[in-house]
Amino acid sequence: MDYVTGKGWHNPRIVPYGNIDISPAAMVLHYGQAIFEGMKAFRTEDNRVVMYRPLDHLKRFNNSADILSIPLMDLDLVHEGLRKLIEIDKRWVPQSLGTSLYIRPFVISVDPYVGVKVADQYTMYIILSPVGAYYASGFKPVKIKVEEHYVRAVKGGLGEAKTPANYAASLKASEEAKKEGFTQVLWLDAIEQKYIEEVGTMNIFFKIDDEIITPALNGSILNGITRRSVIEVAKDWGMKVTERRISIDEVFEAHERGHLQEVFGSGTAAVISPVGELSWKGKRIIVNNNQTGETSQKLFDCITGIQQGRVADKFGWVEEVTKL
Ligand code: PMP
Repeated sequence: MDYVTGKGWHNPRIVPYGNIDISPAAMVLHYGQAIFEGMKAFRTEDNRVVMYRPLDHLKRFNNSADILSIPLMDLDLVHEGLRKLIEIDKRWVPQSLGTSLYIRPFVISVDPYVGVKVADQYTMYIILSPVGAYYASGFKPVKIKVEEHYVRAVKGGLGEAKTPANYAASLKASEEAKKEGFTQVLWLDAIEQKYIEEVGTMNIFFKIDDEIITPALNGSILNGITRRSVIEVAKDWGMKVTERRISIDEVFEAHERGHLQEVFGSGTAAVISPVGELSWKGKRIIVNNNQTGETSQKLFDCITGIQQGRVADKFGWVEEVTKL
């Protein structure tokens, strides 16, 4: 689908997958005017293909567009495009339970223009990619490095948008952390380097004294859809869930007092990712004996159960695309 100022979004179409032709002067290549989404479709136990919270993802897509001054899209049209694209070719259907179909809508600015301004021409694409089961051989708690030198996003910046610049900003720190044997980086706030933000591609949760705590949305972290699912499910179970500022000192202190029960990340790719180790300024703590916690496991089972049709979808999160 294309956009031109004065004409709006137009010409939605489905074409065979292939390279795209853009000018070397296309604004996106120089000024980073791009946004994307990452969502999934699943095969259910009763042989249906369902999308998970598609409208929530699409609303976030438009929120990212707004932050980058990209013209908002007609979400009904994009939604219809998603459904058609999945239905049109059965190769996209996840082959077995546990596997899924990754759906990546994105928008780039394509005006051939050298100079910084809000663009006048954009193209929106949706690409699909089948993905295998994330935990094919079971959960493995990850090792996280709390970042001390680099920052990912600042308040008032792009942090809340799903835009390539945020990921570019995270590469150097992630690479250094990987060389040191960590899986991902946990970002702290950019000003005081004290309050917890999010992990590389996940939101983060702490279970302390049976309370689930996650950093409140503050404009510099992604408003994760899995984060929302975790909050809603845990509240529904009667657990105490709090969204607030939480400092890294508080987490380490809770651990020292023996009150830190679990740490886990949430995201579309892994759903729940138990954290077994946190390292900060040379101090290393092992969480829950490096084992998957009870709440992490229950949340994983519940959310993947809803996605795969094993658990009743009382929240109305799955949308059927087709029967097989
Ligand atoms: N934060 C960042 C920076 C991410 O890239 C992701 C993955 N999209 C998340 C959090 C988790 O968001 P979601 O649950 O919507 O996948």
